[in-house]
Amino acid sequence: MTDSASSHAFHRDHGTLFVEGVSAADLAAQFGTPLYVYSRAALSAAWHAYADACAGRRAKVHVAVKANSNLAVLNVFAREGAGFDIVSAGELARVLAAGGKAADVVFSGVGKTAREMREALEAGVKCFNVESIPELDRLNDVAGQLGMRAPVSLRVNPDVDPKTHPYISTGLKANKFGVAFDEARATYRAAAAMPHLEVVGIDCHIGSQITEISPYLDAIDKVLELVDQIEADGTSIRHIDVGGGLGIRYDDETPPDIGEFVRTVLDRIDAHSAKTGKAREVYFEPGRSLVGNAGLLLTTVEFLKPGAEKNFAIVDAAMNDLARPAMYDAYHAIEPVAERAAPAQTYDVVGPVCESGDWLGRARTLAIEAGDVLAIRSAGAYGFVMSSNYNTRARAAEILVDGTRVHVAREREDVAQLFAGERVLPD
Ligand SMILES: *Cc1c(COP(=O)(O)O)cnc(C)c1O
Repeated sequence: MTDSASSHAFHRDHGTLFVEGVSAADLAAQFGTPLYVYSRAALSAAWHAYADACAGRRAKVHVAVKANSNLAVLNVFAREGAGFDIVSAGELARVLAAGGKAADVVFSGVGKTAREMREALEAGVKCFNVESIPELDRLNDVAGQLGMRAPVSLRVNPDVDPKTHPYISTGLKANKFGVAFDEARATYRAAAAMPHLEVVGIDCHIGSQITEISPYLDAIDKVLELVDQIEADGTSIRHIDVGGGLGIRYDDETPPDIGEFVRTVLDRIDAHSAKTGKAREVYFEPGRSLVGNAGLLLTTVEFLKPGAEKNFAIVDAAMNDLARPAMYDAYHAIEPVAERAAPAQTYDVVGPVCESGDWLGRARTLAIEAGDVLAIRSAGAYGFVMSSNYNTRARAAEILVDGTRVHVAREREDVAQLFAGERVLPD
């Protein structure tokens, strides 16, 4: 996790980990663990890497809300003038509560309900990214009932291999996402013929944690091929949405620099625009690359448990707090917030949940004792948002650090809240 923004925001001073101007150990002492901590400076730096590369070009960045939907985090981006990419009406409500504008929202997702469509139309979202003919039919019906025309883009599946984990690759023929490339032209004709829809764009999203630019360029070339066909059929495409998915450094990955990625994509699309004499706006939908390395999860070592084959460090965070290791076999760097002189040993870092899959890191060399606080790095994306109450564990608090200021972005849940909506049987 050594991209420059995050290494600046998270740094060590005399062996002690700091989040901007605040010691991580102090945060753990004050707010308890497990605790998610985000750096405003790291969020802003990642945002500016995108926004600065887009400056002066016809391009707009939409923050993928599902990666981190805390209102304080969304508000940091809303203040910068971000657009947002949502996948549910719930996320739309969050964007609006965080100060975002519906007119800057694109609505993605493969299974939108009629009710979600109605809410999004009434709020005035900018575009629906539609994934199938039945979804076009439903949206046409709902818009008709409201006496409106819904702005639509079709998510096409370019069938390129993003070279990432199978659970997070979405642009292959075998995936549930998008309209098949070979059917896209006909699907656009169908959309253009529906009275309550207005075709405005085209989009794709080929996967997540992508660490090379070439799969994007392959996808864009195929999308541009389609744009030519769709326009030959008389439907004009005003924007091209290249989706999200840019990877980050968790361990030793070497993802492209954000600015270089943005400029390469824009140059490719501009070259096509110049050839066809039609300028189009380009949308980006980054999630992980904006928030992933702007957050960490603090956890306390409860017990060290030596074993015949393995030593375990049993910590107070678990798979319900951070699901990525259990779910994707994902690597997160783990380090003590205060260095100690004790001899290092190799541990599996595991949580208290009753599942053998409840692990956070395997075979880590750590100099630690019970009671020490550990930082699990790169936890800002798909961290808290994927957390659950499994084992009736209250979810962690979330803190946003801004310089030396500490903002409680979400209070820790308490157990009474967890079953407040439940009822025992009547007599
Ligand atoms: C998840 C998702 C994103 C964001 O992906 P990242 O890998 O977090 O950048 C963008 N667009 C769509 C449609 C998504 O489903």
